[in-house]
Amino acid sequence: MTTPVYQNFINGDFLKNQSGETFAVKNPATDEVIYHVEVADSFVQNAAIESAKQGFAVWSAMAPIERSRILLKAVALLRERNDLLAKIEVLDTGKPWQEAECVDVQTGADVIEYFAGLAPAQVGQQQMVGEDFFYTRKEPLGICAGIGAWNYPLQIACWKSGPALAAGNALIFKPSEETPLGAIKLAEIFTEAGVPAGVFNVVQGAAEVGQWLTHSPDIEKVSFTGEVGTGKKVVASAAGTLKDVTMELGGKSPLLVFEDADISQAVSAAMLGNFYTQGEICTNCTRIYVHKSVYQQFIDELKTRTEQNIVAGDPLDPSVNFGALISKNHHNLVMGYIEKGINEGATLLTGGKALRPESAPNGYFVAPTVFTDCTDDMTIVKEEIFGPVMSVLVFEDEDDVIRRANDTHLGLAAGVFTKDIKRAHRVIHQMQAGICWINSYGNSPAEMPVGGYKQSGIGRENGIETLDHYTQTKSIYVGMTDIESPF
Ligand code: NDP
Repeated sequence: MTTPVYQNFINGDFLKNQSGETFAVKNPATDEVIYHVEVADSFVQNAAIESAKQGFAVWSAMAPIERSRILLKAVALLRERNDLLAKIEVLDTGKPWQEAECVDVQTGADVIEYFAGLAPAQVGQQQMVGEDFFYTRKEPLGICAGIGAWNYPLQIACWKSGPALAAGNALIFKPSEETPLGAIKLAEIFTEAGVPAGVFNVVQGAAEVGQWLTHSPDIEKVSFTGEVGTGKKVVASAAGTLKDVTMELGGKSPLLVFEDADISQAVSAAMLGNFYTQGEICTNCTRIYVHKSVYQQFIDELKTRTEQNIVAGDPLDPSVNFGALISKNHHNLVMGYIEKGINEGATLLTGGKALRPESAPNGYFVAPTVFTDCTDDMTIVKEEIFGPVMSVLVFEDEDDVIRRANDTHLGLAAGVFTKDIKRAHRVIHQMQAGICWINSYGNSPAEMPVGGYKQSGIGRENGIETLDHYTQTKSIYVGMTDIESPF
């Protein structure tokens, strides 16, 4: 059986490349090639820039409310096609249908809807200066680039295109080579909704295509989601043309469970924050610090629920709640971390092995894994694993656990479970992290800004402030009086 071959999406349509180069995309749950995609060669890259210039001229000249109406049509189409798009995400990423059906498309659509609503509300300022005055205009940046990771491919494309397009920019988006189809479907939807040709182009390929975007002198901003190491390379190359950057990078986030916490709720948060999307979420609370007096109760419940409630298998089966990791390579990487955890002396509470579920025997599954007796210096406690591997640590003193939780170069997220309202806020205010939860974990509504402290990122996505990251302020001074000149 031949598999489909997808082309790059440029200027409102598919564009064939000239090199003939393609790459294969596999379903992580079956290890089978499901389709091929053409690489964006220099012919496609040039076309992407030329059409984005033309698209930008048309789009940026439209009234914001007109752009808003078009984007809201796209939102409606996204919601209408939820199941079709969710299935693409399941086949590309290996995540369970149970999640994709109610999260991936909807949270993407929410963000476009949110920014479509905000666009007409963005205003400049006016101020008198004596009898003269000045005013400011919020103008779009021009052509922006988005580069996405593979864990939430369609959602990431929506989170970047929502504010970029609402503010009047054109966006050239490169999805991860592992998960390229969702962005193509989004491009088709934007086109159908009436977004002018060239305003949202999708270019396909691996690091080289990403590098081209970060170097191109025609691109004003790069919004990147991915690993810290790649993020540093992107910032370095964007510096060559002084591009604006937004960086959404990795984390190694702490969850603090105090002695007065609702333990069942804290276990729910720990499981969600380590096993949802089979552990492939940037904000995951992979370091769980539990107060000594409730430690045993916590790990007993955690072990029971992990062993009884997690159902791994064919991700399309609606009863499955735990999917396959993205690739064989990533599977091996995660298994390598588990081996390190064992070798460095952590106790394996549960999991720790590859899985071969009957309904998906060839998938890249790793059992939900919990290590206890962890210490702060262990590799599994220090490095982002991006898989279903949780490290549980003990603490006794509030100040000490805050110091330990902050003792990392990363600062994406943090959480605290306690019924003491003063302690909850006191502790969370001291967390060096950009996304924090009290008695909750993982929720990220369109209205809430998200982004990292320290090496977990630069700038924010979502929330009102993000629209500012896609505009530049023009100040205009108006002379109402005669110019005073010594010349
Ligand atoms: P990578 O950093 O490997 O890749 C991210 C994207 O960058 C991919 O599209 C990749 O292409 C591309 N790329 C690779 N090298 C370069 C380069 N030199 N220049 C420009 N682009 C390049 O991340 P992953 O895809 O492995 O995603 C997992 C990581 O993403 C984790 O660290 C996770 O924490 C982070 N993440 C952060 C989020 C946040 O909001 N903070 C959200 C989701 C994930 P290709 O893959 O095709 O090679």
